[in-house]
Amino acid sequence: MNKYFNLLFAILFLITTQCKEKKDQEFKTKLNEMEVTGNYSMIDFKKVPKIDTHAHINSEGKTMIKFARANNFKLLSISVDFSEYPPIREQQIVRRNHLNDDPDIIAFSTVISLEGWNDPNWSIKAIQKLQNDFELGANSVKTWKNIGMEARSENGNLITLDDPKFDPVFNFIKDQGKVLISHAGEPRNCWLPLDSMTVNNDREYYSKNPKYHMYLHPEMPSYEEQIKHRDNMLAKNPNLSFIGAHLASLEWSVDEIANFLDRFPNANIDLAERISHFQYQSHRNYKKVRDFIIKYQDRILYGSDFEENEETIPKDLEEHMMEIWLNEWKYFNTDNIITVPQLDTPVKGLKLPKAVVDKLYRLNAERLFPNAWK
Ligand SMILES: [Zn+2]
Repeated sequence: MNKYFNLLFAILFLITTQCKEKKDQEFKTKLNEMEVTGNYSMIDFKKVPKIDTHAHINSEGKTMIKFARANNFKLLSISVDFSEYPPIREQQIVRRNHLNDDPDIIAFSTVISLEGWNDPNWSIKAIQKLQNDFELGANSVKTWKNIGMEARSENGNLITLDDPKFDPVFNFIKDQGKVLISHAGEPRNCWLPLDSMTVNNDREYYSKNPKYHMYLHPEMPSYEEQIKHRDNMLAKNPNLSFIGAHLASLEWSVDEIANFLDRFPNANIDLAERISHFQYQSHRNYKKVRDFIIKYQDRILYGSDFEENEETIPKDLEEHMMEIWLNEWKYFNTDNIITVPQLDTPVKGLKLPKAVVDKLYRLNAERLFPNAWK
C-alpha cells in the first residue's frame, strides 16, 4: 500500500512541477514580449547594450573606447583610404593594437588599397593584403568615395566600383565570410548648389570642402552614375554581405532606400552621419519614415562616424559623443520634439518599439559580425 502511495505521490509531484515550469515559461515569454513591444526611455540609454558600426579610431588614444565601455557601446573601427588619415599600414597597426587590448569593445575593418592599380597583378596582390588583414583580425573591408570620385587609372579614367579588376577581390571577401562596407558617391546634396541643400551639415561640409562639392565640377560624373556603378557591382556579387555606409548614399529618399534593399537582399545600410536626412523626411512625412524603419528593421545599423586622432582632446570628444548619442537615442525612442543642429525646424521623435531599436543598435551588427566583440 505504502509503495503505491509513494508512486502516486511521485506522479502527482511530477505533474505539478511540470505545470509550474510550463506556467513559469509562459510568464517569462509574456514578460519578454512586453519588454520588446514597449519603448525605451532616456534613462535606458546607458543600460541597453549597443554597437556603433561606424567609428574611426586613428590613434593609440583610448578616449573613445573608454567612453564607449562606460556607456555600454561596442565599436567597429573602420580604416579609410583617405589622404588626411594616417597611412593605411599605420591605421591597421593601431586597430590591431586596440583589438588586442579591448577585444570585448573593438572590432575593425580594413580597406582595399588601390596602390599599384596599374599592375596587371593588382587583384592578386590586393587579395594577399586582405588575407593578411583577416589573419590579424579584420572582420570587414571598407571602400571609400575615392573609388568613383578621385582615383584614376593610367589612362586617366576614374576607377569605378564595377571595374572587373575588383571582381576577384569582392569574391574573396565573400568566400572568407567577411563584409564589404562601402561609402560610394556622396549625398545627393553634393550635386546641388549650397542654398538648395536639405541639411545644414552638408552645406557646411561642402562649403569647407569645395573639391568634393560636385555642383562646382560639372565635368565629373553625376550622382546617378555613382549609384549606378555601385549597383552594377552588387548585381555582379549578389551573395556578398554588404553595408551601404551613410544610408547607401540614398539618404534623400526612404523610397529609394527601400527599392535598393528590395533589389539586393544581402545589402544593409548604416546610419552614420545621415540621421538628419531621416529627420528632414520625417518632419515632412512622419509615418512614412517610421514605417520604413519598421519594415526594414533587419537591414539598418546604427553608426556615428566619430573619429579619434592624435589631436583629440578627451573631454571635447566625450562631450561631442554624448550629445549626439543622446539626441539620436531621443529621436528613435521617444516622441519628444527635438532640436537638431542640422535642421532649422525641430523634429518629433519616432518612438520605435524596443524590438526595432535593439536590432538597429545591436542585433543586426551581431548577425553580420558573429565573431566580433568577444
Ligand atoms: Zn566614416
